[in-house]
Amino acid sequence: MAEADWVAAVRTVRELAPGGRVLLICHVNPDGDALGSMLGFALGLRRLGVRDLQATFPGPFEIPDPFTGLPGLDLLVPESQAYPDPDLVLIFDVASESRLGALVDRLDTGGAAVVLDHHASNTRFGSVNLVDATAAATSVVAEELLDRLDVPLDVEIAECLYVALATDTGSFRFDMTTPRVHEMAARLIATGLRPGDISRRIFDSRPFGAMKLFADVLGRAQLDPTAAGGHGMVWTYATLDDLDRHEQRPYVLDALIDPVRCVVEVDVSVVVKQTAEGEWAVSLRSKGAVDVSAVAVALGGGGHRLAAGFTGHGTPGDVVVAVREELDRHLIV
Ligand code: AMP
Ligand code: MN
Ligand code: MN
Repeated sequence: MAEADWVAAVRTVRELAPGGRVLLICHVNPDGDALGSMLGFALGLRRLGVRDLQATFPGPFEIPDPFTGLPGLDLLVPESQAYPDPDLVLIFDVASESRLGALVDRLDTGGAAVVLDHHASNTRFGSVNLVDATAAATSVVAEELLDRLDVPLDVEIAECLYVALATDTGSFRFDMTTPRVHEMAARLIATGLRPGDISRRIFDSRPFGAMKLFADVLGRAQLDPTAAGGHGMVWTYATLDDLDRHEQRPYVLDALIDPVRCVVEVDVSVVVKQTAEGEWAVSLRSKGAVDVSAVAVALGGGGHRLAAGFTGHGTPGDVVVAVREELDRHLIV
């Protein structure tokens, strides 16, 4: 990332007048990186003395249970209560304006908008764009900006940034788990946070009903060995009725892709999750044979080369047919 972008971001934050209102926004249906990088940065601004501070995200105001213990949650407000015309807007883990929902209007009604992100597909829609596609998580970018603003890490900021880093690296398992990632993790852990407690909360906690729901959904998974140029695909779907039957909230489905992507016979895994009548949130993963980010972009979404998503329409079968067609167009090998 260009040094000039860092300089511009530091200047933009420092130029905030006393009493200036800051609105932090992350993407709809927030994950650990979205919430963690946003709240960690918000706590940093609080340490700098910024008092008029709100954090928010578009869509239903639901915090997944694993994240209800995050420091800084008191700064979160529903989008309906977010400053209509903030003096400064900071945007986290958002690759394009479509992920801002109705809050996209703050790009016009607010002051400068600083975008912190790590998606290669980022459309650079802010007035300052800190986009590092080599960063494992948005929290890597957030940590560097906090450092350049001379905000020392404390255990609360560190916990937020750690949750973000652990989420996006699949608990330090994926390829982007570079030396730089472990160095950052070391700095965060040195503040005194408890990695075991955090991992249990964000990865290893599930209601009994969610386990039963997973059993139903995994039980209907289908193998499609000839998809993706013969690299193969496994897919399944979950409906709103599945959630109702097991009395579960939609966020529990975010973890479903993990058992599905373990299937050794195939490269690509797909989980199709109903969000409304005829509308589905689709998760795509590849082990390296397909650029699923390109697949998702072709279908109106986005993401990373090996982990991406989009909003699908029709029946689960319709959605999977559309995915299957795109897979062949975006083979890496
Ligand atoms: P998920 O499968 O929801 O964990 O998402 C995997 C990746 O795809 C994340 O990096 C998201 O940023 C991206 N992604 C998921 N859904 C969408 C969408 N509807 N539009 C753009 N990007 C998405
Ligand atoms: Mn995210
Ligand atoms: Mn991310």
